[in-house]
Amino acid sequence: MHTLDLLIRQALLPDGSLAQIAVKAGKIHQISPPEVNLGEAKAVLDLQGDLLCPGLVDGHIHLDKTFWGAAWHPHIPGDSVKQRVEIEKQLLKTVTVPVEQRAAHLLEQAIAHGTTQMRTHVDIHPEVGLRNLEGILHVRERYRDYIDIQIVAFPQSGLMSCPGTVALLDQALTAGADLVGGLDPAGIDNDIQGHLDAVFQLAENHGVNIDIHLHDPGELGIFELEQVIQRTEALGMQGHVAVSHAYCLGMVATELARATAEHLARANIAIMTTAPGRLAFPPIPLLCEAGITIFSGSDDVRNAWCPFSKADMLERASLIAYRSDFRTDADLSTAFKIVTAGGAGVIQGAIPSFTVGAAADFIVVAASSVPAAVATQPPRKYVIKNGRVTVCQGELAGSMALTRSA
Ligand SMILES: [Zn+2]
Repeated sequence: MHTLDLLIRQALLPDGSLAQIAVKAGKIHQISPPEVNLGEAKAVLDLQGDLLCPGLVDGHIHLDKTFWGAAWHPHIPGDSVKQRVEIEKQLLKTVTVPVEQRAAHLLEQAIAHGTTQMRTHVDIHPEVGLRNLEGILHVRERYRDYIDIQIVAFPQSGLMSCPGTVALLDQALTAGADLVGGLDPAGIDNDIQGHLDAVFQLAENHGVNIDIHLHDPGELGIFELEQVIQRTEALGMQGHVAVSHAYCLGMVATELARATAEHLARANIAIMTTAPGRLAFPPIPLLCEAGITIFSGSDDVRNAWCPFSKADMLERASLIAYRSDFRTDADLSTAFKIVTAGGAGVIQGAIPSFTVGAAADFIVVAASSVPAAVATQPPRKYVIKNGRVTVCQGELAGSMALTRSA
């Protein structure tokens, strides 16, 4: 009688050891040296010394915004966040491919690149109502065997400055969104207190976590972070709040950034960074020193904000390292941790990878170590989700795969 669902043999683990991993009911059942007999399994995967890594985590993406699956849209520049929100609204009105289809195309890219957990923000405002949320809920259900998706109800058009949005966020959280989002309380709403009070009130009413986009610069952004910290501590929400971007931490004097980082760490607030191209971003070594959980995401993939990206989180780790001038193995491993354990901790508070009982979510690449994988971004030979091979040589298993051509 078969006792194991999957036996992964001859796997090179991130710690450099050669091992075999037994999987049962989607979880790691046993990890042992290659020579031990672990019994029979329904399926055997012999990696012949390839590197087995934890599944990648995309902790910040916008599935509903993408043009993937529709025609190529030339980028239209905008000078401010407000202006770009308006440009995006107009552009999306011209796209006839439904949100479900566009999101599925992007999602398949992410899955094929080894993302096994994801947090997506979904636009909620009076013009779209809950339409995008309904589409993404549908897509989440369809791909549930391939990826875990957490949904943030995101007020892209503002909260206090966009009447009706607070009520819509409330409905979205009842309809299936997992978290409440926020956006530049000063820059977009010009009402820091009103915006944050509304976001934290929604979180309290629904018992959900918070993830706030903060692009506001310099000392203004730092002031807003302190307001977020204050509310997080007052409501006992330590470990349940994340701030995305927080460019301000990379714009102010080091001493102020360090003091703010210590306050963020005390409130157990996680910071998401994409290591953006031309903008200042949070100094990762300083945040690590303070003990902050850092995670990352693809953010904008082929949408009105950005034409780039393939939703590949190994490529993202490489970008994080490149922008941070990381070169040592220790630093490259830090970049990898941001796209794996960092995101997993924020999304699910997961059991650390490669421990018995952890979800059997992995990627397999031809690399000699994790730093080598970050530096070279080899193709994903296999992706394994809950102990099932979901991607083989870049192709999704099963009959549901869309054509992933652009
Ligand atoms: Zn975003």
